[in-house]
Parts: sequence; C-alpha cells; structure tokens
Amino acid sequence: MKATSVAVIGAGWAGCAAAVELARSGARVSLYEAARVAGGRARRIAYRGHTLDNGQHILLGAYRDTLRMISAVGLEPAQLLLRLPLQMRYPKGSDGMDLVAPHLPAPFHMAVGVLRASGLAFQDKLALARFSSAARRMGWQLHIDCSVAELLERFDQTERLTRLMWRPLCIAALNTVPERASARVFLAVLRDSLGATRAASDMLLPRVDLSALFPDAAVVYLEKHGGRVHYGAHVRAVEATGDHWMVCTETHAESFSQLVIATSPAQAQPLLEPLDGGLAGSLDFGHQPITTCYLQYPAAMTLPSVMFALLDDPQRRHWGQFVFDRGQLDPLQAGLLAVVVSASGAALEQGAGSLESDIAAQLADALRLPELAAPLWSKTITEKRATFECVPDLQRPPVATSLPGLWLAGDYTEGEYPATIEGAVRSGIAAAAGVLKQGG
Ligand SMILES: Cc1cc2nc3c(=O)[nH]c(=O)nc-3n(C[C@H](O)[C@H](O)[C@H](O)COP(=O)(O)OP(=O)(O)OC[C@H]3O[C@@H](n4cnc5c(N)ncnc54)[C@H](O)[C@@H]3O)c2cc1C
Repeated sequence: MKATSVAVIGAGWAGCAAAVELARSGARVSLYEAARVAGGRARRIAYRGHTLDNGQHILLGAYRDTLRMISAVGLEPAQLLLRLPLQMRYPKGSDGMDLVAPHLPAPFHMAVGVLRASGLAFQDKLALARFSSAARRMGWQLHIDCSVAELLERFDQTERLTRLMWRPLCIAALNTVPERASARVFLAVLRDSLGATRAASDMLLPRVDLSALFPDAAVVYLEKHGGRVHYGAHVRAVEATGDHWMVCTETHAESFSQLVIATSPAQAQPLLEPLDGGLAGSLDFGHQPITTCYLQYPAAMTLPSVMFALLDDPQRRHWGQFVFDRGQLDPLQAGLLAVVVSASGAALEQGAGSLESDIAAQLADALRLPELAAPLWSKTITEKRATFECVPDLQRPPVATSLPGLWLAGDYTEGEYPATIEGAVRSGIAAAAGVLKQGG
C-alpha cells in the first residue's frame, strides 16, 4: 500500500511531534519551516558567539508526552533536564517565602513542604491547605469559569500568599495576570503541580539549548525515516486541489494527501483565510509578551540555588519574576543569569537598555550581591506574541477541521493546558493520530 504523504507546516514543538509520530507510522512527511532552526517559540538563538534560548523555559514532570517524544527520538530526558522538587524559593532576606516539596509520596510532599515553609504565617499556610483540599474535592475542575483573582477571593486566600505564590505562579504558567486569567486552566496546572504525585510535580530545567532538547533530534529522526525537511521555507499558500493539498513556498509547490498546519494561530490565519474565513477568524486570540533578560557575570559567580523567585514591584522598577543560574545547568554558561518577565507589557515600556539596568539593580538588591548591578554584558530577548492570553472561557479550536485532510496543531488548540510545550506536543500527536486514522 502506498504511504500517506503529509506536509507539516512549522517545525515548532507541535510540528516536530506531529512529524515524528507520522514518520514512525510509515507516512511520507515533508516538514516546512520558515526559520533556519527548528523549535519555534522554544528554540536556540545565537548571540555574538554565545548560545542562548529565545526565552528561559521550565518543564514539569507531568509533561508526559513531551518526555515520551524526547525519548522516542533517541535522547535521554534524565541527562538533558535537571529535575528539581516543586518549589517557590525567594532569596534569603528578601521578605519572600521558601517552600520546597520534600521527596515524599503525594500528597505528603506538599503537606510537609507547606508545614516546613518559612516566610509564611500560620494563616497563610491554613489558606493554602484550605485551597488545596477544596480544589482536590472539586477534582481540580470548575464548571463555570471565572478569573483566577475571583477564585482566590472565593477561597479567602491571604494577601501575602497571593502576592508570594498564587500571583507569580499564575503569571508564570498562564502568562496572564490573575485578574484576567482563566481559573479553570489555572486549576488544571495546579492539579499537575501542587496536586500531583511527587515526580509529576517536579520542575525540569533544560541543561541544553531548547532546539537540542527535542526539535533538532526530531528533524534527524524524520530524515532517517525517509522524511524531508525544508528550512527557510515560508509557506505562502495552501490550496485544495481535488482530494489533495498543494503547498506553495516562494520557490516550490508540491501536492500532499494531507496537511498539518502547526504554526502559531496568527501565522495560521493567512493560510486559512482563503480556505475557511470562519476558521481563520476563530484563531483571533489576544497575545501576551514574555521577556528574558540574560546577564553575564564573571564565570566564578554562582547563586545559592539554581532558581529563585523574585518580588516584582513596578513602583520600585523591579520587573524580574524569576532568576535562573544557567551556569548550574551547563558549565559552558558559567556566570550567566536569565531573568524572566512574563506578561511583560509594562516592563517593555522602559525600553531594553533601561530594563536591563533595572533588572541588574533588582538582582543586586534581592540577592544582596552588589556586584550583580554591573554585568559584563546583557541581552534582552522579547517574544511579543509569546503565548495567547489565557482568559476565562476561551474557545480553542480542535485539531480536526471541517476540511478533509487539513489538521491544526499548536499550543492554542483545544486542551486543558495553557500555551505550553506539553500542550503543543499533545496537539501534534493528536493531529498525527487524525491523519493516520483518515489515511489516503
Ligand atoms: C519566552 C517564552 C517562554 C516560555 N516559557 C514556557 C515554559 O516555561 N514552559 C512551557 O511549557 N512553555 C513555555 N512557553 C510556551 C511554549 O514555548 C510554546 O507554547 C510552544 O513552544 C509553542 O509551540 P508550537 O509548536 O505550538 O508553536 P511555535 O513554536 O510558534 O511553532 C510554529 C513554527 O511554525 C513556523 N512557521 C510559522 N508560519 C510558517 C509558514 N507560513 N511556513 C513555514 N513555517 C512557518 C515558525 O517559524 C515556528 O517555527 C514559552 C514561550 C515563550 C515565547
């Protein structure tokens, strides 16, 4: 029987997952990527001889499909990811909190972690326990969605716990401020962190650049399995021709029996508009930026922990929310810190130069290390459309479309997660399953 021929547009994590799943099952796959590197919004960037990422990422132990795909292309997740227990640690003396879930079976890891946590008063711990047990009783689900701020109010969460834990968690996971973020999606994330088994709740920090963590190996896997990869190939149009799909770049047009559009929603819109205006219109999401500020210090500089939460406070021009000591992840990055500002609209109004000096000053202050105020060099990378804004009741399209043989994949498609690597990978796997079921 002739193998199904499939074009996958976009070599982000969704497109790479779809391509690998398809190739594994014997389909003939062509992967089109506009950029020169695979990975999309989680990719490697070259900067003056240094290898950086387009933004610092954290994965969770609960990212089961991502971990499975990394293994499927021959990589070893345990070697590529530093596994840390679930934690929310602020630098000592910064009026923050220090919570680390110990290595105990669930739910004792969280219970003991909360009991032992410093920087939280008895009322804060009680509020946290009340929230977790109520959410567990609700099965971490909400029938009627509302904002995260409303949910926290409903469960009488204290001001300190909200400021030190719920707010930063919500902004980090949903890239949306609690006043606008979906409580339903937030609960799904909490189920897989606070409410999960210890291993699922672990935080995983990449030790290699994001393209090397999966997309590069996915491309190699695809080529070994008879697939083709076209870099620098911006697909300008797709056309239905009988029961086939024509994929057109500037220099080349080719026909396939099925097609997976694995781009961001905004990039899918111009391709879909001539085919189905309604579907293209349904991808009109709001977006939020994420900024990562890299600061290089002498190689001997290291933090007391590989990551810390930071208190952001626009009044004091403190924009950073988390800092990562990349030297503890990869010796080649000794002395390099990455500071993340999610939902970074307000911070961006400062301009890159001023933002970098604000962040360096914030680090010096929070970590009580005056030398951090003067990095050797710094580089700010902003992804303006990092993720869709994860508002309540957001309607997200399924991977199957009403056009036979046309599938969507991407972090924005129907699913319980916010815009994440795991959501992207799951959508790619689902789109591949749809293609294979349809056959042809
Ligand atoms: C700064 C930042 C920090 C983040 N932090 C985290 C985190 O900590 N944890 C987490 O899980 N997630 C995080 N995310 C979200 C995560 O990166 C995304 O959800 C995920 O990478 C999206 O993958 P995707 O494959 O759906 O889309 P994309 O990565 O956008 O991939 C789409 C690909 O399609 C290509 N393309 C687009 N149009 C065309 C065309 N016409 N022709 C050919 N190719 C095309 C693009 O170049 C791109 O490579 C973060 C995102 C950013 C930006």
